[in-house]
Amino acid sequence: MRDCLQFYIDGKWVDPIVPKTADVINPATEVVAGRISLGSVADIDLAVAAARKAFPTWSLSSREQRLDLLLAIQSEYTRRHGELGDAITEEMGAPKSLAHGFHVGLGAGHLQTAIELLREFQFDEQRGSTMISREPIGVCGMITPWNWPMNQTCVKIFPALAVGCTMILKPPQLAPFSVQILAEILHSAGVPAGVFNMVQGSGSVLGTALTTHPDVDMISFTGSESVGVQITKDAAETVKRVGLELGGKSAYIVLDDASMAEKVGAATAAMMGNSGQTCSAGSRLLVPSARLEEAIAVASAAASTVTVGNPTGNVAMGPVVSKGQYDIIQQYIETGMSEGARLIAGGPGRPEGLDKGWFVRPTVFLTTNDSVIAREEIFGPVLVIIAYDDLDHAVEIANDSNFGLAGYVDGLDVETCRSVGRRLRAGWIGINGGFDFHAAFGGYKRSGNGREWGEFGFHEYLEIKSLVGYA
Ligand code: NAD
Repeated sequence: MRDCLQFYIDGKWVDPIVPKTADVINPATEVVAGRISLGSVADIDLAVAAARKAFPTWSLSSREQRLDLLLAIQSEYTRRHGELGDAITEEMGAPKSLAHGFHVGLGAGHLQTAIELLREFQFDEQRGSTMISREPIGVCGMITPWNWPMNQTCVKIFPALAVGCTMILKPPQLAPFSVQILAEILHSAGVPAGVFNMVQGSGSVLGTALTTHPDVDMISFTGSESVGVQITKDAAETVKRVGLELGGKSAYIVLDDASMAEKVGAATAAMMGNSGQTCSAGSRLLVPSARLEEAIAVASAAASTVTVGNPTGNVAMGPVVSKGQYDIIQQYIETGMSEGARLIAGGPGRPEGLDKGWFVRPTVFLTTNDSVIAREEIFGPVLVIIAYDDLDHAVEIANDSNFGLAGYVDGLDVETCRSVGRRLRAGWIGINGGFDFHAAFGGYKRSGNGREWGEFGFHEYLEIKSLVGYA
């Protein structure tokens, strides 16, 4: 049993003002894995006061001080890598290899990137007689989801620490264990009192307390579109900056010169990774009409060979995070079948032999872009295949979405990949499997307005001051 019953406020582990707990369920077993305390508005008030008090000193700390802290965090993070991985598997069901690999690795990557950038980052820039100075925005409220808990948290706190902000983190209620360990890591590394604070609990209570708080300067939010809209409205009264990283329904375009066996296989496997619970997943697979049946055969085989089961074992896919998420996904699978999509792999219910745990069958449909399952974010292991006639048609389908988080283009002719990538209305385009911690990550349209990762993540937490007549 993991008990996360205290909050981290002003450099100390403290009890909640009003004691109240909630169980955390292991999605693979449906058994209670631990408890968290549910914070109240009064706990947020204390955390905000601590962050406010710490801001004048931390915002004026030197680059070297902040670098020293990040390096100390890095050594603690590395030391507790295994514990973080185990916690992620238990709280949200990612298979052990994924949790210990990519999940914890993404957090480590953002930390390393922040360290590299901080060494060189130009906070001041002279333009003629004016000095443009980039200064920390202030006290930041950070609200994060459960699907990539280390990635979503580290991509916010390390840039914010690097540029001199203070912060209050509200972790996801469904996946609180790994973030609790992260707070312990920060404490052991010597983060100054009040610079980083964490209160666990519900979004409607704590999230709202942060977004409406007059002493919070900025909200960085990663999560669903509907909550993002609510946060924007709540934060408007106090004119906060709001960074939104929201959902997606990204197109994965396989060009007609590509090997279907390789690229459709890879796209299908990628969709099933993390049980399809990835905001930037290529959940609409666009393939040339002339090669449709070939693509269907590959996708069907690839989905059918995904091993699903207990995430502590050697499997490719664990459960989805909760019963609620399982029910939503099952509903979408029913919708796909009732709206006439052709089921190519998977389907309703749990995979054979798995009677307990929120396991979903890796599912693939052939459909059209106007179907519900092609338009809405399912956030589960459900891939839709859509056929296109030519490149213009592929781009038209890809861009015909309310979302614009990511896009993927795979093909042999690199120039064609590049030009298709440029035409996609989305913030992050992967060409033939590209990946880069220094590339900006964030969405167009209803996928949000923020840009995280690399240097772009630093700018999220900076104000720009013009000192005119400086020289
Ligand atoms: P969610 O919006 O339900 O919850 C996200 C966070 O917001 C949680 O911590 C929750 O407690 C909190 N919250 C809930 N109501 C709130 C309120 N009224 N005010 C303030 N905070 C509130 O999302 P989720 O189900 O945890 O995550 C899945 C969603 O996140 C998907 O839509 C996914 O695409 C998106 N996501 C986006 C990115 C990205 O970088 N763009 C990354 C990961 C996940």
